[in-house]
Amino acid sequence: MATEDSNTIIYAPISGVIVPITEVPDPTFAQKMVGDGIAIDPIEEALCSPCDGKVAQVHPSNHALTIATAGGTEILMHIGIDTVTLKGQGFQATVSEGDEVKRGDKLILFDADFVAKNATSLLTMVVITSEGATVQPLSSGLAIAGQTPLLEVATTASESQKPTGGGIVFSLPIVILNPDGLHARPSAVLSSNAKRFTSSVKIIKGAQEANAKSVVGLMGLSIKQHDSIVVSADGPDSAEAIATLVPLIEAGLGENLHVVPGQRKDTKVAPVTLKKHLSSPISDDPNLLAGVAASPGLVTGTVYQLRDFSIELEKEGFGVENEEKSLNEAIAKAMEELNQIEKSLRLSADTSKAAIFAAHRELLEDPELRENALAGIKKGQSAAYAWRHSYIAQSEAISKLDNELLAARATDIRDIGERVLSHLAGFEKRDASIPENSILIATDLTPSDTANLQKGGVLGFCLTGGSSTSHASILARAAGIPAVVAAPDRILEIPNGATAILDGDNGLLKLHPTEAEVDEVRAKQRLAEELHRKQMIEAIQSATTTDGVRIKVVGNISGSPEAAEIPALGGEGVGLLRSEFLFLERADAPTEEEQTEAYVSIAKYLTPERDLIVRTLDVGGDKPLAYMPLPEEINPFLGIRGIRLNMMGTDIFSAQVRSILKAATFANLGIMFPMVATISEFQAARDIVLREKEALGVTAPVQLGIMVEVPSAAMMADLFAKEVDFFSVGTNDLTQYTLAIDRGHPKLAKMADALHPSVLRLIKRTTEAAHAEGKWVGVCGGIASDVLAVPALVGLGVDELSVSIKGIPAVKAAVRKFSMKRCREIAGEALGMGTAVEVRGLLTKINQELENETNRPAETVEEREVGS
Ligand code: PEP
Ligand code: MG
Repeated sequence: MATEDSNTIIYAPISGVIVPITEVPDPTFAQKMVGDGIAIDPIEEALCSPCDGKVAQVHPSNHALTIATAGGTEILMHIGIDTVTLKGQGFQATVSEGDEVKRGDKLILFDADFVAKNATSLLTMVVITSEGATVQPLSSGLAIAGQTPLLEVATTASESQKPTGGGIVFSLPIVILNPDGLHARPSAVLSSNAKRFTSSVKIIKGAQEANAKSVVGLMGLSIKQHDSIVVSADGPDSAEAIATLVPLIEAGLGENLHVVPGQRKDTKVAPVTLKKHLSSPISDDPNLLAGVAASPGLVTGTVYQLRDFSIELEKEGFGVENEEKSLNEAIAKAMEELNQIEKSLRLSADTSKAAIFAAHRELLEDPELRENALAGIKKGQSAAYAWRHSYIAQSEAISKLDNELLAARATDIRDIGERVLSHLAGFEKRDASIPENSILIATDLTPSDTANLQKGGVLGFCLTGGSSTSHASILARAAGIPAVVAAPDRILEIPNGATAILDGDNGLLKLHPTEAEVDEVRAKQRLAEELHRKQMIEAIQSATTTDGVRIKVVGNISGSPEAAEIPALGGEGVGLLRSEFLFLERADAPTEEEQTEAYVSIAKYLTPERDLIVRTLDVGGDKPLAYMPLPEEINPFLGIRGIRLNMMGTDIFSAQVRSILKAATFANLGIMFPMVATISEFQAARDIVLREKEALGVTAPVQLGIMVEVPSAAMMADLFAKEVDFFSVGTNDLTQYTLAIDRGHPKLAKMADALHPSVLRLIKRTTEAAHAEGKWVGVCGGIASDVLAVPALVGLGVDELSVSIKGIPAVKAAVRKFSMKRCREIAGEALGMGTAVEVRGLLTKINQELENETNRPAETVEEREVGS
């Protein structure tokens, strides 16, 4: 039962430019964790009351204040971002808690210059924090304090929100370690998590207590570092609420707990980077450099150092006017390049990458970058020198900010900085300059570099950073070019033009090869090309075993350019669309419209004849999203990732589900959930999909399945099989979790082989359980693309192989070589083995024998012809 108050109009509390709340560069506000509302970029220094009411709370640092109306609406006004760290400096409250105020009365005066200089932003958020409020923005453009109607608020108090009394549970005391206590951001994280529970949840500090679902209430407790609190929950899910919230609070509610109070800190989750091989573990040859195999293939070419922006630059300029002109011209050229790149990415429907370059354009327009460089020029510096100083300083400052969203921009600033510098310092334009037959060498790849990979000149790349599962590696596999990552730093010193062999199968870079070695590589390449040509001719035919069992071969993709290639490569659909491509490397969540456009454009390439299995967002833990703050985790691979995150951020999940469903008529759609460990996780996700499907009126059938990548899912496959429409085995993670080996670990990489009999046994268990219920099983992990593994997987009963798109013809050809009977024998033998090495040995031997057999009749015919 719900009761409705009369609507309340909230007026602008300060004059300035209205900004949608979703564009605030702080995920806590942008994701409406504090509540729905709007922001204003202020043009004056006084915050006024937005309506008649009572001052419910003044933050001790005087940067935020809450007004409550007689009808119960609570309006939180928060001046600036990260202003809690100013500890009140620059702010003066002119009212106290309990004061009655009228619309337009002054509440807080502040020193805009001081705040702007010492905090991240002056944007002032006006947010409705009362429960059950629906908020409607009323204006855009310029707002005048006390005059412009800003929001219309309708408040409903639902009876169902009241706890039903399932027992009160208290936590043990928790000592708060957050350096700035529970200020707005951690309070918002706590309240948004508390809201997931039906029970009422309270935070108790001494004699005071507050509703944990209210950010304002929490901030009102003024909890500081080292304060002790207790959590209480009362209602049907009280125990679960305590079990969930206590660890979150102890982990810092998304903040880094190991910094000095008041200092800005870098809360970036440490990426899972690889330690480098200091020397080759396999040879003493100084020309043989070993890294980690990231994408297969063997090429010989010349080294091209992707960039050397650390070169000496002339400090002295040729006069302010000349240097300023050079700077302006270089910026204009860089801008034009960005326009061109964005345009061509849009034409090829690669909207997510296009958005990155659109964002680069915006960054390049940032006046501060240019003004700092101009200041250097005015001191007599050259444009190149001053510009480099400007972008490096800004990039470094930003990378240290306590804000994932901004910190992630540091690479982008460096990227655009280097783009402009390449013009100033007379480097050749890097988008056009990579010579033919290049083996790119770099520390890591920026978005601009990955765009370059699509160009013909690049044969492969070798990086000092990255891992075999990093974005650059996945991209290399998708582009079908060899790649080696985690190589020694020495590769950065190799001169441009040096000849080299890049062996992506074995993770090696061989410098200065002999002529004989180059000839050997060329011969192998010719054979590989010949084989590929043959496989391409047959690609369109089905992959059917010699005794007539058809295996579906589909592709793993991360965007529409790959979807466009699927039909020509003989792909029978998409078995895994990694939807992360839409969410990573950007500052804010993609809109529902943007996502719909992406899924529909992919589906259109496939047509209703082919499957499109979209995996919902698989991020979190090792792949943090700037706009979704999560507690730092000691062990992110065992933390909040995949479906666990999907179920936490249900707004993002529901929006994604709706967007995917809108593609249902364009392809044969399926949705699968990542990292599912328990049946209840699948059921909860399925319920949301079905609800959204009904609400949208989508009648086309949509298959719902799970990734089998956590051993529990395979072990419980018989029960899952009654619920799901299909399974897709993610062997990359399944191997990691079964063998307890980090999937990116350089030293253990060879041990983390999905051909380990334990993993094969889990696959077998899954196929048997699925077939007993008439469901199908695919494998979409990396092992499916390994042609050696094909007979074993088919013999285990796998119905579909979802592979890197360039590998589709080869995998189809591999299926056609065997009978199902032979595949079962091979799988049976492999299942009885003790190690992955033995399994690999068996499969290599079988493959070799088959190759010999295929060659023998041809030789015999030839010999006979010669002899006759
Ligand atoms: C897997 O784990 O095998 C898989 C396909 O998922 P991802 O590699 O994207 O984690
Ligand atoms: Mg996975």
